[in-house]
Amino acid sequence: MDLILRGEEEERLRDGWGGMHGIGWIDGAGRGIALKKIKVNNPLQPEDLFSRRCVWVNGPIIIGAGPSGLAVGACLKEQGVPFVILERSDCIASLWQKRTYDRLKLHLPKQFCQLPKLPFPEDYPEYPSKKQFIDYLESYAKNFDTNPRFNQSVQSARYDETCGLWRVRTAGSGAEVEYIGRWLVVATGENAERVVPELEGLGQFGGDVTHVCDYISGRVYQGKRVLVVGCGNSGMEVCLDLCDHNAFPSMVVRDSVREVYAGKS
Ligand SMILES: Cc1cc2nc3c(=O)[nH]c(=O)nc-3n(C[C@H](O)[C@H](O)[C@H](O)COP(=O)(O)OP(=O)(O)OC[C@H]3O[C@@H](n4cnc5c(N)ncnc54)[C@H](O)[C@@H]3O)c2cc1C
Repeated sequence: MDLILRGEEEERLRDGWGGMHGIGWIDGAGRGIALKKIKVNNPLQPEDLFSRRCVWVNGPIIIGAGPSGLAVGACLKEQGVPFVILERSDCIASLWQKRTYDRLKLHLPKQFCQLPKLPFPEDYPEYPSKKQFIDYLESYAKNFDTNPRFNQSVQSARYDETCGLWRVRTAGSGAEVEYIGRWLVVATGENAERVVPELEGLGQFGGDVTHVCDYISGRVYQGKRVLVVGCGNSGMEVCLDLCDHNAFPSMVVRDSVREVYAGKS
């Protein structure tokens, strides 16, 4: 028997971050902004500017080139405000491009998922496929010339009270870079990190254990018995996919079944 673990958890980049000031949290629909002030103990020193490459950003620094980061960039572009988007992956919308299964379609009708300023193409179905959504995001990013800086994984962001600036450090393929600017937008997503709960006995389990973000298709499970842990949207859809590929799924749920949306995707 194989085991598929399912779990989504937000990594809000709280731990190890110097604090929040003039910081905007953006959710998947581009909503929600929280402002908070926390003092940072190590103000910007002249030697910092020479110990690593420093980039002055004349506008907001946006972390994450998922749909939210792109939408923020597009809206700023429309207002003529310069910005920089930092993305740890090598592409936009890495969640959709690298960590979702083949059969995925949008779980919500398209009118709830399109980004500001550019609707979905008219011929898109009510529930666009993963490929259609990625195509749309690619053209969105291009249309607004968002130009994310890829392979820039943000390690820390600190607000320097003395100079009133954000100091955002990245590590990537090249040298460490520090981006410095007045505003910070964190658009790092709520489903971007895999969460594997500690399950007693998992270490002794002899079969394959896969998190849903690595699940591509039920093809490889043909004829096998598979236990799916969790029954949110992904768990349900994976079970269906396993059935379609002649596997034999069972599902475990720790609580009652939560019906999120009774649509027809
Ligand atoms: C299976 C599935 C189905 C879904 N269906 C829908 C749907 O139908 N409709 C809907 O609206 N939403 C849906 N979602 C929710 C999904 O969260 C949103 O579609 C959307 O991806 C959220 O966009 P985001 O930009 O907020 O976050 P993400 O898409 O997660 O993007 C965050 C980006 O930030 C980057 N990042 C993270 N940490 C760092 C760092 N330290 N440094 C630099 N970059 C970083 C990541 O690499 C990523 O590219 C679904 C999610 C899943 C998993």
